Parts: sequence; structure tokens; C-alpha cells
Amino acid sequence: MELFPADLPRSNTELYARSCAVIPGGVNSSIRAFKAVGGTPYLVERAEGAQVWDVEGTRYLDLVQSYGAIILGHAHPAVTAAIAEAATRGTSYGAPTPGEMLLAEEISRRVPSCERVRLMNSGTEATSTAVRLARGFTGRDRIVIFHGNFHGATDALLAAGGSGVATLGLPGTAGVPASAVANTLVVPYNVVPQLDEQVAAVFVEPVAANMGVVAPAAGFLEGLRAECDRVGALLVFDEVITGFRLGTGGAQEMFGVRADLTTFGKVIGGGLPIGCVGGRRDIMETLSPLGPVFHAGTLAGNPLATAAGRAALAELTPSAYELLRVRAARLSALLTEACATAGLPAVFPVVGTLVGMYFGSALGAGVAPTNFAEAKTTDEAMYRAFFHAMLAEGVALAPGAYEALFVGLAHTDEVLEAIGAAAAKAAQVAAAAARAAG
Ligand SMILES: *Cc1c(COP(=O)(O)O)cnc(C)c1O
Repeated sequence: MELFPADLPRSNTELYARSCAVIPGGVNSSIRAFKAVGGTPYLVERAEGAQVWDVEGTRYLDLVQSYGAIILGHAHPAVTAAIAEAATRGTSYGAPTPGEMLLAEEISRRVPSCERVRLMNSGTEATSTAVRLARGFTGRDRIVIFHGNFHGATDALLAAGGSGVATLGLPGTAGVPASAVANTLVVPYNVVPQLDEQVAAVFVEPVAANMGVVAPAAGFLEGLRAECDRVGALLVFDEVITGFRLGTGGAQEMFGVRADLTTFGKVIGGGLPIGCVGGRRDIMETLSPLGPVFHAGTLAGNPLATAAGRAALAELTPSAYELLRVRAARLSALLTEACATAGLPAVFPVVGTLVGMYFGSALGAGVAPTNFAEAKTTDEAMYRAFFHAMLAEGVALAPGAYEALFVGLAHTDEVLEAIGAAAAKAAQVAAAAARAAG
């Protein structure tokens, strides 16, 4: 089989049209469509390090990085070698493996609250399993989530959303019955809600990274911990983005707050499909086969994904995180300077290794949002112009105004300076467009 048949047209528009004839919207994850920014997506043929090439041979410096699943850069040799070696031994068995044990041990070692770890196939599977587990463990039904936090495509947590849902401008989604979210309470981010004894769990992105990047306010996570303890609810950190990206122990280490359950995905799969729920032993052992809360998955703990994840984690040393922090700060500074010089109002907030973006001056010059209501005031038209101008300059951002910018170990100083130079030009174009629009 040819991975890229010679007779395929090397045209984004032709291949996208053909994709649309067989795949709804031409995409397998709705946020990849250019619906929010207009135009036609580029189709990727290959990627390496900080670069992706589309089917037309155009090269982009990539800040999408699989929405954060990639942290070492694309096709990192250690990850590629681990996957290749694992593949020669078989791709899935339906029996336990040493590889999944080793990855689970590594996760547990780095994140001490994860006394037990269950691996699965996506972040969505992790959050949906955590919902079931929290309800099964506490015997309560109510779940509390925060406006603008995103926990994947699972019914109970789609009462409102950050990433895709906000971009598409829908108040939730069709197809979720009222009964599925009847026990889901959506409250504003960065305010500790008052809970009662009906609450099974509070789910939170400890650093919100699906409404731009929003830091937890001082005392917010500590307050959630105390309020959960007061009523006997579980505190669930959704670290699908922050886990193994902010640092060795994720957001809970950075902010010194211990979660009862933590969900992971993205980085721990080294770019392959993975998800994980970790947490307190007594809670985790409520999962089947030890306890009454069912969980199973044909491909869960997949040997390729666990090999890729272990290879990725092996590179993520404390000094690697130090480098990522320096680079995140540098990217933010370069983009800030580019926009300021062009007279384009924009803020690029940094939390550790994460960089966000906010366009316009609705909150006041240089002010970053602290919750979803504020994040929603971002100037989407301004982002559309900046996004397309950056693409024209050879830099790929996510096609939505509420995504993070993902800096990885492949974003060397040289790459960052090139992104900064592209941004200087793109910001002029976007500023001119904003002036023309009045
Ligand atoms: C991406 C994401 C998810 C969903 O993970 P998938 O692997 O896409 O299902 C859940 N929570 C957060 C915070 C995420 O960013």
C-alpha cells in the first residue's frame, strides 16, 4: 500500500472537496475545520520538528502541534523509534503488557496524587470515565463544571464548552438530551462555588487552556479543594492539556493543590491516541474489575501508544521544562511586540509553558481575560485576519480564536525568531484590515 498514492492531486482544495464528499465537513475533529476563520484547511502530508508540510509542499512553522499532544516536536526520533519497534511486536493483544505497567508507574511517580492509574484511548474517554467513577464512588449525581472549560466530547460535560463549542457559537450541542446534563451545573471560572452534599465532583481545568489561556486566580484551586472537602465531593483536575506540559507534576504540582482524580491525554501518548484517569487508591479501586464502576476498552493501554508515551516522557526532564518556560515567554514577547508595533491590540498571556491569545481592547489595553465571559469578548474578526496573514507568512495557528499556542522542544530560538518576524508582517496586515473595517 502506498501511504500517499502518486495519483492523488497535490491540491488542498481538491483533496478537501473530496474529503467533504465522504467525511462530514471534511474533518474528523470539528475544530480542525476552518469554519471559525473561513477558507479551506490545508491537508498535511508530513511533519518534522516544528514544521508541517501540506500536500502542495507548502511549509508552515507549526504552533498547533496536534492541539498539545505533541511536545517534543513532530516525528521526534525517540518516539518514532519506540513506535516502530513496538509495531513489529504486534499492535494490540487483548491481554495486559509490561509497557502499560511501565507508563502507569511513570505517571504515578511524577504525579503523586495518582496512586492508581487506568489507561484508555482519549481525553474524552478519561473525562467520561471520571464522571462515572465520581458518581459511583460518592453515590451522588451532581457534577459541577466551569464556563469555558472544555472536557472533551462527552454528554454530561457538554452543558457548555470552551474550545470547539464556543467557537461554533452553540450553547452546548444538539443531540445531548436535557436529562444528560440535568445534573451538570455550569458556574463561572475563577470563583469558588458554594457546594452542597448532592455534588459528586467538581471538574476543573486547573489552568484553563480552551478559552485562550486563563490562569487560576490566587486561591481559586485551594478554595475548590477546601469546598470539596467540606461537602465530601471529589476534586477532579482535567489535566489533559496541562499534564506533563506545565512541568513534571502538571498543574497540581505547580499550584500545590492535590486532586482526588486527574484526567490526562495528549502529551502522555506521544502523539498517539491515549487517555488516562489517575487518582486516590480507594476511589480508583472502585473501578471494575475490583469495584462496581464499569470500565473497559478493546485498545486501552495500547502497546504503540504506551511506547510512544514512555518515549516522550523520557525526554521531559526538569531542564526540558525550564527550556519550555523560557520559550513560551519568548514567543509571547515576540508576538506582543509584533502586534504593539503594528497597532494591533492583542494580549498573549503566559502560564508556565502555555501561551494564550486574546485580540481587541474590550477589556482595556494589555488586559487578559480571567473567565469565559471576558474571553468571549475577543475580537474574532481580528483573529481571523491575523490567522490568515500568519498562514500566508508560513506560520500555522489553530483555526479558532480560543485555542492555545503550543510551544515545544522543537521550537528553537531560531524558529521562534522566524515566527516573530512572520508575526511582525501579519500584524501589519491584520491591523490594516481592522482599520479598513472601521
Ligand atoms: C483535548 C481535551 C480533552 C479531550 O481529549 P481528546 O483526546 O480530544 O478526547 C479533554 N479535556 C481537555 C482539557 C482537553 O484540552
